[in-house]
Amino acid sequence: MKHSLFRLFSREPLHDPLASPAPGAKTEIKTTTCYMCACRCGIRVHLRDGELRYIDGNPEHPLNKGVICAKGASGIMKQVSPARLTQPLLRKAGSDRGAGEFEPISWERTFEILGARLARIRATDPKKFALFTGRDQMQALTGLFARQFGTPNYAAHGGFCSVNMAAGMIYTIGSSFWEFGGPDLDRAKLFVMIGTAEDHHSNPLKIALGKFKRRGGRFISINPVRTGYSAIADEWIPIKPGTDGALFMALLHVLIGEGLVDRAFLKRFTNAPQLVVLETGCDREGMFAHDPDPAKGPPGDGREPHNKLVFDTISKTIMAAYPEGIADGADAALEGHYVLADGTKVAPSFQLLKERVEPCTPEWASAITGIAPERIAKLAREMGETALQQAFEMPIPWTDAWGKKHETTQARPVAFHAMRGLAAHSNGFQTIRALAVLMSVLGTIDAPGGFRHKAPYPRHVVPNFRAFNSPDMLKPNTPLNAAPLGFPANPEELAINSDGSPMRIDHAFSWEHPLSAHGLMHRVITNATRGDPYRLDTLMIFMANMAWNSTMDTMAVREMLNAKNVDGDFQIPFLVVCDAFQSETVAFADLVLPDTTYLERHDVMSMLDRPISEFDGPVDAVRVPVLPPTGQCKPFQEVIIELAGRLQLPAFTTPEGRRKFKDYPDFVVNFEAQPGVGFLMGWRGKDGTEHLRGAPNPKQWEMYAANNCVFQYHLPESMHFMRNWNREYLDFAKAHGWRQKNDVVQLALYSDTLQSFRLAAQGKTKGRQPPEHLRERIDTYFDPLPFWYPPLEDAATDIEAYPLNAITQRPMAMYHSWDSQNAWLRQIHSHNYLQVNPLTAQKAGIADGGWCWVESQWGKVRCMLRYSEAVEPGTVWTWNAIGKADGAWQLAPGADESRKGFLLNHLISEELPQGAGRTISNSDPVTGQAGWYDVRVRIRPAEPEETEASSPQIAATPAVPGVLGKRQKPLAYFAGKKSSA
Ligand code: SF4
Repeated sequence: MKHSLFRLFSREPLHDPLASPAPGAKTEIKTTTCYMCACRCGIRVHLRDGELRYIDGNPEHPLNKGVICAKGASGIMKQVSPARLTQPLLRKAGSDRGAGEFEPISWERTFEILGARLARIRATDPKKFALFTGRDQMQALTGLFARQFGTPNYAAHGGFCSVNMAAGMIYTIGSSFWEFGGPDLDRAKLFVMIGTAEDHHSNPLKIALGKFKRRGGRFISINPVRTGYSAIADEWIPIKPGTDGALFMALLHVLIGEGLVDRAFLKRFTNAPQLVVLETGCDREGMFAHDPDPAKGPPGDGREPHNKLVFDTISKTIMAAYPEGIADGADAALEGHYVLADGTKVAPSFQLLKERVEPCTPEWASAITGIAPERIAKLAREMGETALQQAFEMPIPWTDAWGKKHETTQARPVAFHAMRGLAAHSNGFQTIRALAVLMSVLGTIDAPGGFRHKAPYPRHVVPNFRAFNSPDMLKPNTPLNAAPLGFPANPEELAINSDGSPMRIDHAFSWEHPLSAHGLMHRVITNATRGDPYRLDTLMIFMANMAWNSTMDTMAVREMLNAKNVDGDFQIPFLVVCDAFQSETVAFADLVLPDTTYLERHDVMSMLDRPISEFDGPVDAVRVPVLPPTGQCKPFQEVIIELAGRLQLPAFTTPEGRRKFKDYPDFVVNFEAQPGVGFLMGWRGKDGTEHLRGAPNPKQWEMYAANNCVFQYHLPESMHFMRNWNREYLDFAKAHGWRQKNDVVQLALYSDTLQSFRLAAQGKTKGRQPPEHLRERIDTYFDPLPFWYPPLEDAATDIEAYPLNAITQRPMAMYHSWDSQNAWLRQIHSHNYLQVNPLTAQKAGIADGGWCWVESQWGKVRCMLRYSEAVEPGTVWTWNAIGKADGAWQLAPGADESRKGFLLNHLISEELPQGAGRTISNSDPVTGQAGWYDVRVRIRPAEPEETEASSPQIAATPAVPGVLGKRQKPLAYFAGKKSSA
C-alpha cells in the first residue's frame, strides 16, 4: 500500500494500459454480448488473472462490427458497482415497506418460502400470482413459466415503453422498427427520422447513418428536440409533441392529391383496392365485402385475407381479390363507388382513405404541429418524388405468393425510423398507423431503400398469437391453454368475463385497452392495491424500478406499495423483487432475489423472443459467463427454472414426475417449442451440423462460445425483399417455425380488425359488447382508418394555464435508471436540467442555470433549468431517470443525483377523469401504452430564499445487508496489479 501511495505523488503513470502484463500473468479475451443497453452488441471482455481489465467491441460481430459506445465500455464499472446486491434478503418482520430493513437468508430458505407460497396459489387460484418483468430479454422463458403456472397476469415492460410502435405497425404491415425491421440506409436516398433521440439500435444505426451520410444521403429529423442522431441531420423540423399524426395525415393528403403514390404496389400488395361495405346499420358495415358462396370460404377478417372483392376497371365487374383481381388483364380500381349484385354499396378502401385525408390540408396540420404549411407540402413532395422518380431496379428476381415471377426488385429509396416520441402518447397507435400507411402508399415496405423486415418478421396481420380469452381457462394446477399475451383480431379474443369486466390485473385485453399486446405494467400496483378486479397474493417484479422511474405519479405508487387494509395487512400481500442493484424498488420488497450481471450469466437472444436479426437473415446470440457470480447472486433464469422444477410445471417435468432440466443452460439446449425448434437456431442436431431446425445439440453452448456467441444465417438474395408476399420466403419461414401459415401478409391500410371492435361498440354485432361507459370510447378510437386526435390529457387540462408540453428522453450515456451507480457514466450525467428554449425561459423570468418550479395540474418539481436552442419553444424536456431517491443505488447521502437531479414522473398522472366520477388509465385507448409524453406544464422561477435542491426529496434508505458498497479496492487502475493495490 505504501508503494501505491508513493506512486500517487510520483510523475510516473499509475498504470500503463499498454505495458506488457507482469511475467506469469494469465491474460484472456472472452467474447459475449453487451447488456449495457438493449441493442446487444458483440463485445470482447479482456481479463488478466481472471480479473476484468476492459471491454471493447467485437470486430467479428455482425451487429456492431467492433464499435462500442460509452455505456458498453463502462460495463466494468457496473460489474463492481457499490449498488450490487449479493445475497437473498427477507424484510424484517414488522418493518414497513420502503424502510429497507432486511435480514439475509440462504437461497434454500428463499426457495422454501417462495416455492410453498406459489404452490399454494397455484393449487387454489393461480391468477393471484403476477409476474411482471422490466426490460429483460428472456420473455420466451418468463412467459412460458407464467403460462405453465396458469396465471394470465404476466407481461414485460412493453406497455409502458413502445407498444404503440409495435402494435400500430404490426396491425398494419406485420412488422415494426428496431428488432422487427428498420430503414435500409445502404440504399436509401432520403431518410426521415421521427420521434427518435439516441435510442434503440444505437451502434448499428450510428454505423449505418455514417455510411449513409458519406454516400450523400439526405437526413431529415422531425422532433421537438434536436438531440442524439439528429445532431448530424441535414435538416431539423421541430414539431409539437403528440402532433405527428396530424403531420402524417397532411403528408398523405398531398401525396394522394398529387398522385405521388405507388399505385401498382397498392393494387397488388395492400388491401387498398378491396371493397368495403358502405351500407349502414348492418353487421357488415365497414367490413370487407365478400362472396357469400360457402365454397369461397369465410368472410375475410383480420386473420383471413381471403374472400374479399375488388372492382376490375377492364371488365367493369366485381371479382375476387385473389387471384382474379391481381391476374394479368385485370386492373383493380383504387377509387370510386360501386354496387354489388345484391345492391350493397361498396367502395375500395383506398377511396375511403382518400376521403379521410381530404380535409387534412397542410394548413390544417400547420395549426396543430407548428410546421409551416409550405414545409409540409415540400416534405411530402420530397418523399413522393424520391420514392417514385429516383426509384431504381435491382437485378434480384423473386416470385410472389400467387406465382408471378418478378425479374427485378423495385427499390423505393425513402426510409423512415420512428420510436418512443411517437409511441408514448395516448394517440400513438393511430399516429403510428398513419405512419405505416404513409410508408405503404410510397411502396417502401420491404423494398430496397425503404423499410426492411428482420426474421421472424413479418408476422401475419393480425399475428396468429391469440391470448387466453375465457375465465374457463383459469383452473388450479393447470397451465393456461393459450398464452397470457397475444394479438386480438376481434372482440371474441379479449380477456374478459361474461359481464365484460377485465380478467387481468392490469386490465389488458379488456374493453379499456383491447389491443394491449404487451400488457400494462404501469397499472399493476394501483389495480392490485385497489383489488381491481381482484386481489393478488404475490407480485413478482424483475428488473423494473416500479417505486421510481417506471411509474407515473411516483409518490402515490410508493404509498400504495406500503398500503395496508383495516387488519393491518398489506394490500399487496407479498412483493418479490429481483434485481442486480439496490434500486428504489428494493426497499419495498418482502423478498429480494439478487440477480447476476450480464457478465456472470448465460442468456439467449432467441428467435422465440427478441433476436438480433439483420435484414438479410436471422441472427441469434448468447451471453456466456465470463466472470463467476458475485456473492450469492443467482441469474433470474435459474430462479425461474428452479421454481418451475419445484412446482412441477408440466413443461419442466418428465412424465415420471422428475425435474426435466438441470439448469438454465440445459433448458435452452433441450427445450423445443416445436419439434426441432428451440431457443437457439445455430449448431443444432446431435453433432451441431444443422441450423435453424434440428434435434437438440448437447454442445450447443460451446459452439456459440467458440463462434463469438452469435449465429447468423444468410438467406439467399431471392428472399431478401418483398417478404410479405415472397413465396419462397413465406414457405421457408413456415418450414422453420417462424410462422404458423405461409399466407401472404397484405398491408392493412384499412383495418377491418379495428372495425370489428367498433361494430361491437355500436351494438351492430351479436357477439361481445363493451360496457355502456366504454361504448363511445371504442367507437371513437377504433377507427379502421388512421386519424389524428389530441392526446387525451389535453381534454382534461386547462391548456392556457399549462401551455407547455413536457417530455423526457433517454440519455445517450445511460440506459434508463440503470447507470447512476456506474462510476464512469456518472461523470457524464450526475444530474439533469430542464432544457428550455431561451425565449420561453426568459418570458418566464428564469435565468440560464437558475432554479425553477415545473408544475402540472397533478404535481410539481423544483429543478435547475438550462437554455437550449435545440428545443422548440412550446416544449420543455429533460433526461429520463437521472434523478434518484436519496440512498438508493448506493449513492452517497446528498449525491448530485438526489440533490440536483429530478424525476419528471412526479408531474404525470397515472389516471385521467372519464366522466361520471370514473377514472381511466392515462394510456392509449387502443393499446394501453402509457401516455408519458402528454403532460402539460408551466414554469416559474424558484424564490430566492428557497433551498437550492430539487424537490421532492425522499428520506434516505439504508444500505441493505450484503450490498457491495465502497469497501472494495479501487479497481480500474489496479486491475492485475494486486501486489501494489
Ligand atoms: S449500443 Fe448498447 S449494446 Fe451496444 S455497446 Fe453500447 S451499450 Fe452495449
